[in-house]
Amino acid sequence: MTNSSAVRSTALGYPRIGSGRELKRALEAHWAGRLDAEGLERAVAAVRAEMLDDLSVLDSVPTGVFSYYDHVLDAAFAVDAVAPRHRRGTTLASYFAAARGDDAAAPLEMTKWFDTNYHYLVPEIGPATAFAPRPEKAVAEFLEARERGLDARPVLVGPATLLLLAKAADGSPEDFRPFDRLPEVVEAYAGILAALARAGAGLVQLDEPALCADRTPAELEAVAAAYRRLVAEAEILVAGGYGPFGESLPVLLDAGVEGVALDLVRGRSDLETLASLNVSRETFIVAGVVDGRNIWRTDLAKAAADVEAVKALTDRVGVASSASLLHVPVDLAPETGLPPLLAERLAFARQKLTELTVLADPGGARDARPDTPDAWRDGAVRDRLAALGPGADRRAPYADRRASQAERVPLPPLPTTTIGSFPQTAELRKARAAHRQGLMIDADYHARMRAEVAAVISEQEKLGIDVLVHGEPERNDMVQYFAEQLTGFATTAAGWVQSYGSRCVRPPILFGDVARTAPMTVPWTSYAQSLTAKPVKGMLTGPVTILAWSFVRDDQPLADTADQVALALRDEVADLEAAGTAIIQVDEPALRELLPVREAPRAAYREWSTRSFRLATSGVRPDTAIHTHLCYSEFGVVIDAIAALDADVTSIEASRSKMEVVADLGRAGYGSGVGPGVWDIHSPRVPAAAEMAEALRLAVAALGPDRVWANPDCGLKTRRYEEVLPALEGLVEAARTVRAEA
Ligand code: GLN
Ligand code: ZN
Repeated sequence: MTNSSAVRSTALGYPRIGSGRELKRALEAHWAGRLDAEGLERAVAAVRAEMLDDLSVLDSVPTGVFSYYDHVLDAAFAVDAVAPRHRRGTTLASYFAAARGDDAAAPLEMTKWFDTNYHYLVPEIGPATAFAPRPEKAVAEFLEARERGLDARPVLVGPATLLLLAKAADGSPEDFRPFDRLPEVVEAYAGILAALARAGAGLVQLDEPALCADRTPAELEAVAAAYRRLVAEAEILVAGGYGPFGESLPVLLDAGVEGVALDLVRGRSDLETLASLNVSRETFIVAGVVDGRNIWRTDLAKAAADVEAVKALTDRVGVASSASLLHVPVDLAPETGLPPLLAERLAFARQKLTELTVLADPGGARDARPDTPDAWRDGAVRDRLAALGPGADRRAPYADRRASQAERVPLPPLPTTTIGSFPQTAELRKARAAHRQGLMIDADYHARMRAEVAAVISEQEKLGIDVLVHGEPERNDMVQYFAEQLTGFATTAAGWVQSYGSRCVRPPILFGDVARTAPMTVPWTSYAQSLTAKPVKGMLTGPVTILAWSFVRDDQPLADTADQVALALRDEVADLEAAGTAIIQVDEPALRELLPVREAPRAAYREWSTRSFRLATSGVRPDTAIHTHLCYSEFGVVIDAIAALDADVTSIEASRSKMEVVADLGRAGYGSGVGPGVWDIHSPRVPAAAEMAEALRLAVAALGPDRVWANPDCGLKTRRYEEVLPALEGLVEAARTVRAEA
């Protein structure tokens, strides 16, 4: 196997939740005090053993890719970058304090990992953070694999990415950036590499996806120096993923790294970059040809051709997943309920390992991927899309809409509303589970949900809210609910993917042309409207968010798939309007998530993502109001996109950022209605009416009195009625107070 022309199989990372979500169960039992530290250790050892069982088919086995919670937090702990407020008696206790917070300290912030739905913890690093090597976890997991006789390759998030993803610790000088500390953190990494070398490690993988984003020349210079230092300690494989390395590639190779792992699914241009660099034939190039982010079987013929292209450039070739397999479910085997035509086209993590071994086997059968079955095509949908006129995604000018909407639904200034969901109580969840398991018949389930809608409407009337919602009790999830009703989607029985910590999601699979067969939400909204004279908002999930939180077919551009989803939603919007709904909210909390990591492809993304939203929402009369909701406020990068949605009202996160967003919107010349969330629903704290009034005054000062709405930050499904009712009472009072001042 040391034959220089042999292709070595590996994976960049692997699911670490266990095939039956054992990690989730063990963690939650431990946090609840039902499982002691030893019990937890036994449970996670079993998870790691299962990972190694799976990974042992590979020529080079990644180790250290297990995590109790998050791999970025693991890297922070590996260099001892632990905030003083999180230090506890044991490393594990400190680790969980950082991850989840406790009575004494708030946790680290959490945010999305590149353009995925995985959330990492944001390390806090300041000028005084004292880095030190803490190689214990990396060494122990390396030895665990070595004891099995495996060719083990330790994996760690690299120093540049760790710092680029970190935030400045509170109290840092204004101009301090964690990345300034690269030379020092690199010394801690050197210590870890030395410890791994003493334990017998050869090649070590450092994950540097942040080098697949746009970087300044100064940053690249610092990265070059860092890697020149690190290669003195170990043979280093730098893995990217989530896009092409581009200009980072020559920097890393010149620094003397042993090799690089390229994402040839999303970063195919790296093949050309590599060819232009005339690399030494000793360079280890790992071709990431098996999609680590999606669940389709690999076109092995095409992948093999890419591997051949790499072989033309170097004698040392590996074949791997394009990114960590963390983003896909563990195993397809339990999915016996999927249509056979679909199941045979899928590969989850275990199946992808098999593909990798086939690609590394000189005699492996490199089957091309079969074409998309005709049965998955919907001629009517395609004809309809092709026939759309250029105006199909355009509405009347905002000013005209505004006037006719005000006439149709007269509202006071600063109208009050909520974002859609009301608390999902334990009883509601129980009813849904019973219904799913066939223990509750449809009629009983619907009666239960209607009773909930009635209760939610009555609470809102009592509170004096202006625009009501039905509360979304029937929705298991804001994407899955629609996926279950649209053609072209399938849902899995156990296709869990880690979202953060112990939290897992089960994304639907969008495999074929999408169409709506019947109204999806109209009966709920109409029922709610029948109970009140106040306007009830229709509530839908937008096309971009539906794509972002699903596994999506990769045989056509995302833009085309988005348009199909948009058409289905357009019909739903039309039916809501026909049923008398005057206000329809289409949520797009994932609009920013799918934004490409690099600037260059962003314009095209903004174009198709906003077009699909407009396609979904432009079929209505001018006097029907379209609202949208985004869950975050740091939207500098999508501010043009928000304007391009052309919604009549946009609700956004604002309270955590102290309404700064409102001024940004004012400056950006964003002209329609805005609902800056004045209550942070992510916290159990109930804000005082006076505090919300103050926030509303800031919004009115920045945007004028005519287009500000009063609403919470996000949906209320995770909150309890004990918090929701007093907070909404305060919200209504705050709006009345500020109205009276105008
Ligand atoms: N309408 C949804 C709700 O209120 C919006 C959720 C979201 O923004 N993620 O739950
Ligand atoms: Zn939200």
